[in-house]
Amino acid sequence: MKIAAYEVRPDEKPVIEGLCKKYGIELISTPANLDKTTAHMAAGCDGVTTLGQSDYSNAVLDELKGYGVQVLASRCVGYNHMNCDYARSLGFRLCNGAYAPNGVAEYTVMAILMCIRKFKKALYNTNDNDFTLKGKMGRELRTMTVGVMGTGKIGFTIIKCLSGFGCNYMGMKVLAYDLYPNDSGKAIAEYVDLDTLYRESDIITIHTPLLPETTGMIDREAIAKMKDGVVFIDNARGELMDIDAVTEAVESGKFGALFMDAFPGETGIIHVPHDEDIIRTPGMPYFKLKYLRSFVNVYHTPHMAFFTEEAAEQMAECGVNSIYEILTEGKSKHEIPC
Ligand code: NAD
Repeated sequence: MKIAAYEVRPDEKPVIEGLCKKYGIELISTPANLDKTTAHMAAGCDGVTTLGQSDYSNAVLDELKGYGVQVLASRCVGYNHMNCDYARSLGFRLCNGAYAPNGVAEYTVMAILMCIRKFKKALYNTNDNDFTLKGKMGRELRTMTVGVMGTGKIGFTIIKCLSGFGCNYMGMKVLAYDLYPNDSGKAIAEYVDLDTLYRESDIITIHTPLLPETTGMIDREAIAKMKDGVVFIDNARGELMDIDAVTEAVESGKFGALFMDAFPGETGIIHVPHDEDIIRTPGMPYFKLKYLRSFVNVYHTPHMAFFTEEAAEQMAECGVNSIYEILTEGKSKHEIPC
């Protein structure tokens, strides 16, 4: 068996190499993204694993098919970049990553606390020797209502983490919305319809996958239904937001704070140093991001909510294991359901 591993970070290398050695897999490993210029590295491979920045365009998939590749395994949870329909039409088996949701959940709790305690202002002012309390009055979670959109692995873990802040035993309330409410979620949060969540939440955090039906769901209509001064957090995918509507909400003060670990159009920009070059992106999403970042109540981080020692190791394992399982056992628990 032979696999090509793309986008391999230094921290993943020993894990991927170790597993391939254990299974007797021949490995081609590169830090480069999979794209038209690098697809040739997968010639003769049975499986390909990538992170989230690779190019799964029709042309690249056609080329991989021609090389005899059978399995495509993303090491990320999100698989919106994998061009699934076309890949399946060519007969590829598709897998995504799985790892404990705690890293992203804890990061989101951190984001909530940073927003409600005006952390950016405190940090910036203090660095500038402005030690005043002006503009730094915060809120306490125990008196607030948090709305969690998407109560899968990450959303549910956030709700569990929030329980420690007074949810269900002090004044704090957690509202939840999901197409498929689950029993564990029902035990610790109150499922409501989306309009109610928008209307009643002081803080809204979104954890749905990026799908055609969720793309741009945080639009002008949705924002208009939210409370004035709402804290909005997107640590899932940037394209869940209509970024122009979100920008207007920041400009008008409708959003009390905005925290984004993801930004629309970030592929090819994020996780790459751009300190010495010019970033050109269609529709100028990077320009919009720079503008948004200039607000003292807007936080942006480089898609790093997942990035913990624990999760990174599990992701690397997943990339190799899922290919190995499909090719030796015909199935893997990491296969993406059709
Ligand atoms: P999951 O599949 O366990 O949960 C997703 C939940 O969303 C499910 O409960 C599903 O029913 C619900 N859902 C789907 N469509 C919906 C809709 N239209 N309306 C409401 N709910 C809907 O996934 P997860 O592991 O919790 O991850 C969620 C997302 O977080 C991923 O798809 C990925 O995009 C993102 N993510 C980001 C990072 C990061 O580092 N920033 C890391 C991991 C995951």
